[in-house]
Amino acid sequence: MEERKEKRIIMFPLPFPGHFNPLVQLARIFHHRGFSITIIHTSFNFPDPTHYPNFTFRTIHHHNEGEEEEEDPLFKPDGSGMDLVTFIRQLREGYADPFRTSLKAEVGGGERACCLVSDVVWGRTTEVAAEEVGIRRMVLTTSGVASFCAFAAYPLLRDKHYLPIQDSRLDELVTELPPLRVKDLPVMETNEPEELYRVVNNMVEGAKSSSGIIWNTFEDLERIVLMNFSTEFQVSVFPVGPFYKHSENILPTTKNKEDHVTTDWLNKQDPRTVVYVSFGSLADIEEKEFLEIAWGLRNTKQPFLWVVRPGMVQGTEWLESLPCGFLENIGQKGKIVKWVNQLEVLAHPAVGAFWTHCGWNSTLESICEGVPMICTPCFTDQRVNARYIVDVWQVGMMLERSKLDRKDIEKLLRKEMGEEMRESCLKWKDRANVCLSKDGSSSKYLEKLVSHVMSFDSYAFAS
Ligand code: UDP
Repeated sequence: MEERKEKRIIMFPLPFPGHFNPLVQLARIFHHRGFSITIIHTSFNFPDPTHYPNFTFRTIHHHNEGEEEEEDPLFKPDGSGMDLVTFIRQLREGYADPFRTSLKAEVGGGERACCLVSDVVWGRTTEVAAEEVGIRRMVLTTSGVASFCAFAAYPLLRDKHYLPIQDSRLDELVTELPPLRVKDLPVMETNEPEELYRVVNNMVEGAKSSSGIIWNTFEDLERIVLMNFSTEFQVSVFPVGPFYKHSENILPTTKNKEDHVTTDWLNKQDPRTVVYVSFGSLADIEEKEFLEIAWGLRNTKQPFLWVVRPGMVQGTEWLESLPCGFLENIGQKGKIVKWVNQLEVLAHPAVGAFWTHCGWNSTLESICEGVPMICTPCFTDQRVNARYIVDVWQVGMMLERSKLDRKDIEKLLRKEMGEEMRESCLKWKDRANVCLSKDGSSSKYLEKLVSHVMSFDSYAFAS
């Protein structure tokens, strides 16, 4: 580890695994480079700080306007079953003031803070607070560059009537954003469609006005969109990913009982035979879809490891909608669990394919472990990622959510195990490793990022 510079970085994650995990990985990189780290976290989904002994955690509580008591939003901890747009609006509204107060206290405290790194989805919520206390603000974008460009193109997409999406145009190419088709545009179902535009606009504007964007991607993977982005936007970008592959991000060695059982089961399978199935930490599916997936998996020859989060299947607690005797019938061929250590699973030699919802972390992790994908995107950036996985990087096949059918699933799973796609995936894995090597682009961008942060004047407390 480098000599500590007596400089501190304050970080503000969005409270979901797909956002918190990469932020912690980035925090480890900064810590390794001599910075101390303070993480301001919402009381909603507050992590166990004992798992992160190198960082200082501060909690902020949700503030319901007009009420004296501070309370958390009434959401399930995994966020399933909720309107995400409404949720983000409520997060921003409820935590803006508590964040501002906390930041003020942090920056006004003893140790110097040189910079705030906040999740890009907080948008301009953090901008005002940072300006008030006179601290420079960078944003962490936990999605890819291609999807961010699609978000940034929302005004154009509305002008050209691609948005709101019309069913009659789903397969049409969006000529301004190839290879995206209308059905790939990053939208989500919501009861507040106008709020979606506001949330996205606020996020893009917050990134543009920041002192730099830190990206969990690598240059080789998104070279063209990175160039397009830099031509259009006058903000420094730092594609230093994949974060988790930097040497200081050692995988946790402590395992719980369920992890051991999963590893034991994987150890018994032949190399590259297992289909690993997971739709991430937020997406939920209908019971009908769940049953098609279950039968599709049951009818293939391949062994499978399937993550079904409690509450992921709408209207049920866990697996109770499976027909009687289904689990017994699967026997040792398949394993259904509530959560896994995904990085360990993808790195296991028995895993041959990843059936994924194409969240950005899952996409990147699968590419970096050389595992081809079956893509069933659910919402927002997942649709963009899926199109790039299939058409640009050629490391996966599409299985659209609207077409989930047990027979198609069975057919596709057989095909997916092909060598060609695996080889293409291994090439990308190698390129990721080259970018991470000493003279690779991610390492160079990391050097630039550290210099950039070090160049910020220490705060000038404004009030
Ligand atoms: N993850 C995990 N175990 C699981 C499912 C997911 O460790 O059973 C991790 C996964 O490695 C990834 C994150 O949770 O880092 C999910 O992020 P992603 O962007 O793929 O999807 P999201 O959950 O945000 O939709």
